[in-house]
Amino acid sequence: MTITGRPSDIEADLLDTSRCAVRLACECCEKRGDLAVVASHTPLGVLCVTLCRACGLAGRRPRWSGPRGADRIYQHCQHLGIDRARMSTLLAQHRHLGLPEVWLS
Ligand SMILES: [Zn+2]
Ligand SMILES: [Zn+2]
Repeated sequence: MTITGRPSDIEADLLDTSRCAVRLACECCEKRGDLAVVASHTPLGVLCVTLCRACGLAGRRPRWSGPRGADRIYQHCQHLGIDRARMSTLLAQHRHLGLPEVWLS
């Protein structure tokens, strides 16, 4: 998906992980292999995380501090080609994404 010209309103899918890079290891258990990127909805925004199949199925997520989570949200905005303000706008319009809110402690 390429964005040319003006992106249409609310078109960006915050949960799109097609341009997110899979990391070398599961971010919960450090396992390597059988990995996938999963979009997660946190109180601060949507971010992407690399999980192994076992952690993904179990619903496990890494425990990150607020600043770390915010940094990852910023990175996911870059994957999506939007800025942080736009994500906030989209989130306000999509109050219920049907995803678990996770881990920011
Ligand atoms: Zn894992
Ligand atoms: Zn991402």
